[in-house]
Amino acid sequence: MIQAVQILAPDTWEEALALKAEHPDALPIAGGTDVMVELNFDRVRPEAMLDLTRVPELREWSAEDGMLRVGAGVSYTRIIDELGDRLPSLAVASRTVGSPQIRNRGTVGGNLATASPAGDALPPLYVADAEVELASATGVRRVGVAEFITAPKRTAARDDELIAAFHVPAAAGAQQFAKIGTRNAMVIAVCSLALAIWPERRTVRACLGSAGPTPLQAPEAEAFIAGVLEEDGLWESRAPIPEAALGRFGELVAAAARPIDDVRGSVAYRRHALGVLGRRALAWAWEEQRCA
Ligand SMILES: Cc1cc2nc3c(=O)[nH]c(=O)nc-3n(C[C@H](O)[C@H](O)[C@H](O)COP(=O)(O)OP(=O)(O)OC[C@H]3O[C@@H](n4cnc5c(N)ncnc54)[C@H](O)[C@@H]3O)c2cc1C
Repeated sequence: MIQAVQILAPDTWEEALALKAEHPDALPIAGGTDVMVELNFDRVRPEAMLDLTRVPELREWSAEDGMLRVGAGVSYTRIIDELGDRLPSLAVASRTVGSPQIRNRGTVGGNLATASPAGDALPPLYVADAEVELASATGVRRVGVAEFITAPKRTAARDDELIAAFHVPAAAGAQQFAKIGTRNAMVIAVCSLALAIWPERRTVRACLGSAGPTPLQAPEAEAFIAGVLEEDGLWESRAPIPEAALGRFGELVAAAARPIDDVRGSVAYRRHALGVLGRRALAWAWEEQRCA
């Protein structure tokens, strides 16, 4: 028997929140690049869907005092074109997503809600301590991205909440994103790494994708390299990071991984690859930082 799906199509954000309160089981759809796959494979069969594509507020972004508020419905193409200079790691990650068609439709809000460990937008948000703005008919709250993603494909959002936006500081130093896939386009990451240098805080942040149940931060690698930069006076001298320190950073990045064997790669390959990505991403970012 064919089951009819009720389509709820709000024109405003207020209406969207009211509809979500009335129909907490309604499945939101933005670009549809994850949702339509789930529907086509019959993995979900919602009684109602909440089409967010007509809500103008979700497509807006703004900047104030070095902080950006980016609507959940801003596409990857627009992140690359409009925010590439302010969010370089997220923009590089966005360039690796799918194909031009997927980047035109797909949104960072959708990537956050899907909460896949392989979601390419996620590691860049972790290294910037981004916050997710959740809204319901009764109020708004902000949750750090690492608290928002609780498990594979699970988030801290309640049934009556929608993702309104994410809040992220504009880059203050060099940033990198590197991804390994079986080819250059249209691949889910075998593993990935985002790295950000925050000179005023004298920190380097690293986050691994497709390396565990959720994106994983690498606190030991971060503490190690902060120590090297401080003790060797590299913030002041702007000298290159010694080879041995780059190698050790890579080892500590690899040690932070909790990968699994699957069709895309083995535990051993992922660990090795993450070590290489960590070492390279730090070398590239520091080169850019010291020459800036
Ligand atoms: C061919 C192909 C290639 C792909 N390549 C990549 C890739 O390289 N890297 C990658 O990370 N992903 C990839 N994806 C997955 C997908 O494109 C991304 O996850 C994308 O960010 C999803 O965004 P969307 O707007 O299309 O989300 P949708 O499909 O509309 O929704 C995804 C999820 O988010 C929810 N949702 C959407 N908006 C909101 C909101 N405002 N509030 C609450 N919940 C919301 C939906 O209910 C659903 O659960 C690919 C998909 C396809 C089909």
